[in-house]
Amino acid sequence: TRNYLETIKEKESLNAFLEVFDQDAIEQAKKVDEKLKNNTAGKLAGMVIGLKDNICYKGHAVSASSKILENFESLYSATVVERLLEEDAVIIGRLNCDEFAMGSSNEHSAYGAVKNPHDQNRVPGGSSGGSAAAVAAGLCLATLGSDTGGSIRQPASFCGVVGLKPTYGRVSRWGLIAYGSSLDQIGPLTNTVEDSALILEVIAGSDQKDSTASTKKTDAYSTASKFEGKVKIAVIKETFETDGLDPEIKKNLEERIESLKEQGHTVDYVSLDILDKLVPTYYVLSNAEASSNLSRYDGMRYGYRSERAEDLESTYVKSRTEGFGTEVKRRIMLGTFVLSAGYYDAYYSKAQKVRRIIREKTDEMLRDYDFILSPTTPKTAFEFGANDNDPVSMYLEDIFTVHSNLAGTPAISIPAGFHSNGMPYGLQIMAGSFEEKKLLGFARTLT
Ligand code: GLN
Repeated sequence: TRNYLETIKEKESLNAFLEVFDQDAIEQAKKVDEKLKNNTAGKLAGMVIGLKDNICYKGHAVSASSKILENFESLYSATVVERLLEEDAVIIGRLNCDEFAMGSSNEHSAYGAVKNPHDQNRVPGGSSGGSAAAVAAGLCLATLGSDTGGSIRQPASFCGVVGLKPTYGRVSRWGLIAYGSSLDQIGPLTNTVEDSALILEVIAGSDQKDSTASTKKTDAYSTASKFEGKVKIAVIKETFETDGLDPEIKKNLEERIESLKEQGHTVDYVSLDILDKLVPTYYVLSNAEASSNLSRYDGMRYGYRSERAEDLESTYVKSRTEGFGTEVKRRIMLGTFVLSAGYYDAYYSKAQKVRRIIREKTDEMLRDYDFILSPTTPKTAFEFGANDNDPVSMYLEDIFTVHSNLAGTPAISIPAGFHSNGMPYGLQIMAGSFEEKKLLGFARTLT
């Protein structure tokens, strides 16, 4: 723990941590040491873990990297945090992210961007940018992030680490600051697939406090072993026609496919002709849910209140105007628009229908095949400011990741290689719902 605390200080310029819980972490580490001596320590004894700043930890600040939650302290711990502590993990601090987990670059944090440890002129990805950078830079052993449309896997890809988004409902969302409630999942970012499996084993499972947490039995994910047998893999044909797909990333995938075939696995190109509808569907639904979830930040109940507020109306307006950043406001407006009476049918309800089709087609594909393989992202990490004037081009980069959030299926990003520009990038594997054990086993085979 001390070693990590020192490294965090040395690498402060990355801006990965918003706050380090040094006292608490040292105390907890001492307790775990005692338990280790008495042979009573839990599964995660000594694992030093950081939390994305949208996961509540009782008695500690949590802000979702937003000014509107400045000085807010969690009144209770997220279920995942309780489960980590029960197994004797050491929680070392809270990690920078895009404000309310909205973004793909960590540039939308009220506390400044996180830098990519592989090249400090480039973004770490987002929204769990601090979580990915911290693991890549050795600031802690593992972190938790949240993934609504790729926020664990995309930064994992950009920083060269492993990122897992579990099946919707596999992990309790109690104590996670909501973005898009029908899409959000908490998951681990780690150096290895084995660490990812161990953490999932601890945090997964039903929870009385979250009715969307599945009561389906969890598996012993940490025992997921490498695959001996042959598997059937689908590659979505349209993947290769994606606008802006980097030629090196494309070539890497093609080579991977060839090598899998040589090993005797079946790899088929299957069409998903609605691939280009994924991003628009995701942004309509996630923004609609966000506009509803974020209505609670009104300057009255908790969080930031404008000093210029004079009455109820101006408390709402001024607190929200001053408290939220530009990207969050853009999404609240978009979400409110698609939910408004005149446009509901044209956008929100249409997107729900498209989502059902996506889910059905994906489930069908995953009945015929064990896995769907794709790049995690079409490109490597970009330079700061590259997408400043064009939010849509940033949104379009989520094309491969939003798929599993819309379908509810689990997906993992594992390091695939390095680009000639020096940056790492990931390979994404998606499996059927609740097939995390199989997914982790296959990911181990490929790493
Ligand atoms: N980039 C996506 C968005 O901005 C994903 C965010 C997320 O998964 N939290 O919505």
